[in-house]
Amino acid sequence: MSHHDPDCLFCNIIAGQIPSKKVYEDEQVFAFHDINPWAPVHFLLVPKTHIASMAQVTPEQAPLLGHMLALAPRLAAEQGCNPYPEGGFRLVVNTGTEGGQEVHHLHMHVIGGPRPWKKG
Ligand code: 5GP
Ligand code: ZN
Repeated sequence: MSHHDPDCLFCNIIAGQIPSKKVYEDEQVFAFHDINPWAPVHFLLVPKTHIASMAQVTPEQAPLLGHMLALAPRLAAEQGCNPYPEGGFRLVVNTGTEGGQEVHHLHMHVIGGPRPWKKG
């Protein structure tokens, strides 16, 4: 089941109502470049259905999260992250205010590329 929250920034990006630079899309997920990148590669991988954060994930959503995790290395390589182990990438899921989450639609940051990075 897909759920769109009309007040959610990332739901509106997924729907194409707010422009973004798309990295990847399939039935379940959408990926787009972060507007304020920390590193040469920095994109966000999000479920198409509105889930506020990792704190709301249910056991039924485990396959969706597995799909996101399994997809991240492929997309990271396609976007220019160098191969493991010299290269690699970082996956970050900020959750809640104390976790540093600013946009309340579950998203995985995929960050990588040659250093130095602006942060991290
Ligand atoms: P959080 O802090 O919630 O983990 O990360 C939210 C991320 O969304 C930030 O890295 C921020 O740069 C990015 N972001 C915020 N607004 C927009 C936007 O309108 N477009 C894109 N592409 N990224 C955004
Ligand atoms: Zn949303």
